[in-house]
Amino acid sequence: MSRAIAVVASLNVDHIVHAPRIPEPGETLMGFSTSRELGGKGGNQAVAAARLGAEVAVIGCVGQDEDGDEYLEALLAEGADVTHVRRSASPTGRAAITVDAEGVNSIVVVSGANADIPAAAAAAAINELPGLRVVAGQLEAAPEATERAFAAARSRGVLTVLNTAPADDVARKLLPVSDVVVANEIEFRQLTGQDPFDGHGLRRGGAELFAAGCRWVIVTLGAAGCAVLDASSSTHVPAVAVRAVDTTAAGDAFVGALAARLAEIPGEPTTAAVVAACGFAAKVAAVVVTRHGAHPSLPTSAEVGDAGI
Ligand code: ATP
Repeated sequence: MSRAIAVVASLNVDHIVHAPRIPEPGETLMGFSTSRELGGKGGNQAVAAARLGAEVAVIGCVGQDEDGDEYLEALLAEGADVTHVRRSASPTGRAAITVDAEGVNSIVVVSGANADIPAAAAAAAINELPGLRVVAGQLEAAPEATERAFAAARSRGVLTVLNTAPADDVARKLLPVSDVVVANEIEFRQLTGQDPFDGHGLRRGGAELFAAGCRWVIVTLGAAGCAVLDASSSTHVPAVAVRAVDTTAAGDAFVGALAARLAEIPGEPTTAAVVAACGFAAKVAAVVVTRHGAHPSLPTSAEVGDAGI
């Protein structure tokens, strides 16, 4: 079991419709099928890290409803600590997802209880959790709770990992308390106005994020892998070549695996250690894209090894 991670987490129930294409505004379309799954970027990240053997505490909020009961049970079954998951009067977060015949999706998230994570309680949880090495967060959970938790982590010398998903201007506010920033291509463009596939754009955009206070920037580029930047260098980590069938949760698995690996590093991480952790995260994400769904696609360490990638 690796050292401890806390995830300030969005916990959503996904309602998925499979359709021939994404409907136009105002259009009604006949779909193929529906499914319902546990998801939310934070929940996915926490489960990804737990399956890889990390000791994971979830800081979040669900409703006093059946969805909330189900999510808490699922987290417990993964071995996660749910002491810091609150229940609020708002309904558990939900996402309405349409997936077209090509696997391309469009998603609407309604935060519900995710917006009710109390900021002071999130900070207090960070101060209470023993052996904490890494705190991860994204932009689906209450941003103030993430900010306060990250600030508390920083003052304890605990590494903070911000996934800037989904793209939102609130990311800028969190950069000064984030050690590692993980952005996909779209989020990097939105945050910096730069093209991450262009070497100059990547460095210029990275410099802007470093000026805001973070120490490493990781730009994930789908099947093209990722770029790891520190203030003076840029390293490309290739993706693992696989036949992708469904990229749902690839980014979340990457962040969960990165957090799990970073938590194992004693003391201050070096850039070389961050690059190595991204290599491991790329392997985990590669397994995920060969499987369907969010939680069902997240592998254990043994499954990553067995996949031979
Ligand atoms: P998503 O929203 O689909 O969960 P994302 O946009 O946040 O993902 P991506 O940059 O698409 O993030 O993917 C994250 C990582 O997953 C990549 O850096 C890469 O390592 C891996 N990955 C994604 N797509 C593929 C693929 N087709 N083949 C192999 N690895 C992939």
